[in-house]
Amino acid sequence: MNDTTRFWETKGLAEMDEAEWESLCDGCGQCCLFKLEDADTGEFALTDVACRYLDHNSCQCSDYRNRSRNVPDCVKVAPDNIAKLRWMPETCAYRLLAEGKELFWWHPLVSGDREAVHSSGASVRGKAINEDMVDDLEDHVIRQLNKELGNGMPPLGTPPKDPETG
Ligand code: SF4
Ligand code: SF4
Repeated sequence: MNDTTRFWETKGLAEMDEAEWESLCDGCGQCCLFKLEDADTGEFALTDVACRYLDHNSCQCSDYRNRSRNVPDCVKVAPDNIAKLRWMPETCAYRLLAEGKELFWWHPLVSGDREAVHSSGASVRGKAINEDMVDDLEDHVIRQLNKELGNGMPPLGTPPKDPETG
């Protein structure tokens, strides 16, 4: 890929067209895991329970077009709200770019391979449970998100290294 096609390095989030914006999503599925918020402290806990609309193989929404109607709480990420979404994973492309960071090597725009997000271990493939299989979300807390994020740790652990460059 030559430099003229690396739009995410030259354009601000608000300058991207819809196709560019949508292509930023790496398909990790991490944002579709349920979070629990402590009403008193504002702390977030991450669970391994996924929204029933998540396709566990592709790790993408099975009804993306109707996601807001299907799940009113489903947050539509936009240039003007990404900075406020504290629970978004640190590996999320939108968050990375909003924070002035680079995309990871597995990102399909970087790797040219839509499977790399899965083979690298960065996606939720094989790690999540459908909400319809779960009685109590509190039994499925896997991380205290704020503490981890405060330490610079993404929700699913340290980002996997590029096997070629380490
Ligand atoms: S966390 Fe970000 S990159 Fe991953 S699926 Fe959600 S919006 Fe896409
Ligand atoms: S409706 Fe789709 S995009 Fe929204 S949380 Fe569920 S699976 Fe994710």
